[in-house]
Amino acid sequence: MPKLGTPTGTIEVLQKYNFNFQKKFGQNFLIEPRVLETIVEAAGVGKDDCVLEIGPGIGTMTQYLAEEAGKVVAVEIDKALIPILKDTLAAYPNVTVIHGDILKMDVKELVRERNAGKPVKVVANLPYYITTPIIMQLFESHVPLESITIMVQTEVAERMQVGPGTKDYGALSLAVQYYSRPEIVTHVPPSCFMPKPNVGSTVIRLARYEQPPVVTTDEEFMFKLIRASFNQRRKTLVNGLCNASGLNLSKAEVAEALEKMELPPAVRGETFTLEQFARLGSLLYKGRIQ
Ligand code: SAM
Repeated sequence: MPKLGTPTGTIEVLQKYNFNFQKKFGQNFLIEPRVLETIVEAAGVGKDDCVLEIGPGIGTMTQYLAEEAGKVVAVEIDKALIPILKDTLAAYPNVTVIHGDILKMDVKELVRERNAGKPVKVVANLPYYITTPIIMQLFESHVPLESITIMVQTEVAERMQVGPGTKDYGALSLAVQYYSRPEIVTHVPPSCFMPKPNVGSTVIRLARYEQPPVVTTDEEFMFKLIRASFNQRRKTLVNGLCNASGLNLSKAEVAEALEKMELPPAVRGETFTLEQFARLGSLLYKGRIQ
């Protein structure tokens, strides 16, 4: 089986297996070797590493990863790709392909089974329709991981690294920046994929922090506050939080916390930094029975 990652190599495999792209699975396969090399290099994969690849497709990036990593565990949802992967990855005994939906899997358990619970490096050309849920799942369920190096829609990469006061700032920015240090690796034009996506793409690397950059009493509670604030973006923080179901906060409680933080009562959540959400979380959590 020749090395994939070129238009001819990809077309050959697609024709051999009479494969039809499934739009519902966000299938846009990489056909540009330089992009593949850049991703693998940015991920800093070496022989001591176990890589978790989400969505191997026909195994293009998997081949590149398998050459550098100690082992690769690749999770693919599309059943039609499983026999193809068996063929394209036959020369790589360090690869394990798992048929499944990453969002329905216990990834922490998977890492325990496949890498004795030691941190993995996640590398993926992600299906764009579920980028945010995948990232949130990896972080929030505390999957042991060192870094996440992923291809995402450019707009989403921007949302991950912006700060307060911009329209792209939101719950995703705060979650990414609480758990990791984001760094843009490169922008990738649609011509590097088959079929071409109708959006620009960007490779971003998220280096997991050992300790989050801010301290808050209860992480889960802080993220509930963050979500509630951005769900009602146009409202003041006081109204946004008091209207949120499940939080049970009174106006007086929130106003008192804001006063302690020396902030005006009409402040909006979208101006809040991560530090401020952490402090607000600690003030409001105090004495609460969850
Ligand atoms: N890695 C390949 C490449 O770079 O050429 C394919 C990338 S393609 C953008 C995304 C891949 O993720 C597809 O193979 C798709 O079938 C798979 N996928 C989509 N949803 C998934 C899910 N929930 N769990 C696992 N894989 C999924």
